[in-house]
Amino acid sequence: MVSDTLDIQISKAETSRLPQIDYSNLVFGQNFSDHMLVADYADGQWQNFQILPYGEIKMSPAMSVLHYGQTFFEGLKAYKLADGRVSIFRPNKNAERFNKSAERLCMPQLPEDLFVQSIAALVELDQQWIPDKENHSLYIRPFMFATEAALGVHPSATYKFCVLTCPVGPYFSKYLKVKVETEYARACDGGFGFAKAAGNYAGSMLPAKKAAEEGFDQIIWTDAREHAFVEELGAANIVFVMDGKIVTPSTRDTILKGVTRDSILEIAKSWNVPVEERRVAVAEILDGIKNGKVTEAFGVGTAATITSIAEIGFKGEVYTLPDPAKGEFAAKLRRTLDDIKYGRTEDINNWNYIVS
Ligand SMILES: *Cc1c(COP(=O)(O)O)cnc(C)c1O
Repeated sequence: MVSDTLDIQISKAETSRLPQIDYSNLVFGQNFSDHMLVADYADGQWQNFQILPYGEIKMSPAMSVLHYGQTFFEGLKAYKLADGRVSIFRPNKNAERFNKSAERLCMPQLPEDLFVQSIAALVELDQQWIPDKENHSLYIRPFMFATEAALGVHPSATYKFCVLTCPVGPYFSKYLKVKVETEYARACDGGFGFAKAAGNYAGSMLPAKKAAEEGFDQIIWTDAREHAFVEELGAANIVFVMDGKIVTPSTRDTILKGVTRDSILEIAKSWNVPVEERRVAVAEILDGIKNGKVTEAFGVGTAATITSIAEIGFKGEVYTLPDPAKGEFAAKLRRTLDDIKYGRTEDINNWNYIVS
């Protein structure tokens, strides 16, 4: 159901690459579906919305994104529902965040309905690519970048909006051993940690590589000033179960406002489970693991879904959480969220955007 307000020119691929994809062994982000969407921003407006066969794009070496990093992305997923319909999970939330990222990076706004309709049209055309399997989905990657071919630090006059999709399976296949980062920072006050700006991820790679060399799967980011408060888990939000309550860092300019985070907090509230969004001290978590108050910890995000933490390393010491396989909250939240996403339960919050 693509509204007639957005005119998209469609050029279909001559043959589908779908038969070449091994759906029993999907590596995250490596198999792209047959088509992509592109649109241009020029003369102060969005134009030229096209769906094309997935392929290379031409660029000038002077293109401003390559020099000054004016680019950001989004991540959301499409699912095959139990009744066979195709649905995208809460795309309006991503549209909203897309424009927050754009604003912070001095890039143009993309009206929410254009964002959602573009994605819906692409997903509808490539719906055969959506895996029909538990824990599988079609990952959708919208992004925008500065295209003006000119050096000099100033906002580009032109931009491109693109959307790619990839069939994906589970992102993490095990419980995580994570490290509390006390040297590097992902984001700082006044910075743009709340935006899905490419630069935030470029800066996270060296700390993640060092953590991996020390045997950790992921980093728990802490505040840049004191490294005393928990912020996020890699590129996911972090949630603790403490004394039977759900505790998570409150969102601020250093923290990405996750759609998954929002969804699980809504679900917990609907169960009348107390939810605390506040500053969470590293010391409080480590003490809580020692004295048994912290019973579960997990990362939540579109790519990572809900991934439990087994161990937390801090300054050379390892703190072991109770066996995540017995973590009731994570399991119940995961089940409830999956039942909604795969259309096995009533979608009382209207989170599924039906494409066809
Ligand atoms: C994308 C992302 C998240 C999770 O957001 P979702 O909307 O749930 O996918 C959390 N933290 C960071 C840093 C992210 O990039």
